[in-house]
Amino acid sequence: MIGQTPDRLKTRRPRPFDLGVSARWLEAHVRPVIRRGPLSPRESALADRIKHLKKEAGSHSPSAPTILKLIPELRMRVDACFLSNPYATELFLDNLYREVIRPGKLRKLLEFYPSQNRVIADKLANGLGLATDRLFIGNGAIEIIQAILHRFTGGKILVNLPTFSPYHEFVRPDTEVVYNVLRKEDDFRLDLGEYIQTVRRERPDTIVLINPNNPDGGYIPYAKLVALLEELADVPNILVDESFIHFACEGDGFAFRSLTREIDRFPNVMVVKSMSKDFGVAGIRAGYAVMAPDRVKALLDNGYLWNSSGLAEYFFDLYSRPEFQADYERKRVHYVRHSRRFFKALTTLPGVHVYPTHANFALVELRRDDMTAEDLVCRLLVRRGIYTRACDDKKGLEPGRFIRVASRTRSENRYILRGLKEALR
Ligand SMILES: *Cc1c(COP(=O)(O)O)cnc(C)c1O
Repeated sequence: MIGQTPDRLKTRRPRPFDLGVSARWLEAHVRPVIRRGPLSPRESALADRIKHLKKEAGSHSPSAPTILKLIPELRMRVDACFLSNPYATELFLDNLYREVIRPGKLRKLLEFYPSQNRVIADKLANGLGLATDRLFIGNGAIEIIQAILHRFTGGKILVNLPTFSPYHEFVRPDTEVVYNVLRKEDDFRLDLGEYIQTVRRERPDTIVLINPNNPDGGYIPYAKLVALLEELADVPNILVDESFIHFACEGDGFAFRSLTREIDRFPNVMVVKSMSKDFGVAGIRAGYAVMAPDRVKALLDNGYLWNSSGLAEYFFDLYSRPEFQADYERKRVHYVRHSRRFFKALTTLPGVHVYPTHANFALVELRRDDMTAEDLVCRLLVRRGIYTRACDDKKGLEPGRFIRVASRTRSENRYILRGLKEALR
């Protein structure tokens, strides 16, 4: 169960951190005790505490371990708030256990300084087939986003809504944020013609494209994105956030297309990539960006010498090896394949609209008045132990109506689906 970290040092094969229980187990042990109808006084009290916690957390939801620490009576079974591939987490842990923990090498990773930014960039450059001087390593993508906003962004930034909030929250005080509001009637699709007009009118020095977008999963197909960037060659800074690109497949065999391969053509483009979601390793804080060498140099001249950690360096080392990449590719395809089935099944639920997604989560709109998004989130958590995200705090989304549901393991997804079915009945 979440929050009970298995004793990895003793078990031979590490067990999953989150659950690892089958749908059958959940059904046998959880279903019989699930009540229907309105929440009991005890459940309502729990729901109130969850709502309070969420309010305190501002524009990011409290993590599952944080909630469990503060409300220990909760029995959380599935974390569908965090947007990660759980199979990839397992893969990383297996490797970490075999190569670092079991042979007694953890101390070395933790006692000494990690390599410097450029040295880690060199490792990653091998794995990605890119030049080292184009790579900037970050302590998570968020550090890179801040670095870019503070170092390169000038007086005006254009951000699409809804969005990942740091893009408007962490700008310098002298930067004006202009919003391009995507319409739910268009399934939050970016209308490229309209977007170009907005850029021409507003003349921002920085624009942000998250592809696929968080929280709606909207995706700009590769060819269209390239055409857009060609059109916008005069914008000084274009930030393309590909943190969810491994889930956005185009063409055969679940292949995805990253802009990094064509970055040489666009000196104004910076591609940002988090490792937290597709590799399921948010705790090690690893991300990178691909950009023109003079930009990388400008950032490194400002600091960021040892901004990684021993664990992040180990991850990048692993990532640069073909065997690991092949293992990861299998996990990725498996996850994408069953996630798509899950999203399709969500569209059959009554009283909701599920927005088309190319990411590993779906934005769900409640189209009924007897229940708010927060009611639904609390009910799922208190009754079923399923943690989803209410999007009341997201700019550009009508409060009370939207929740975001992440895809998890196959059996967990079945459990989520059943929980939603019952809650929406
Ligand atoms: C989660 C997220 C990030 C931040 O990732 P970290 O590497 O964990 O800092 C960046 N961009 C988007 C769109 C995200 O959803």
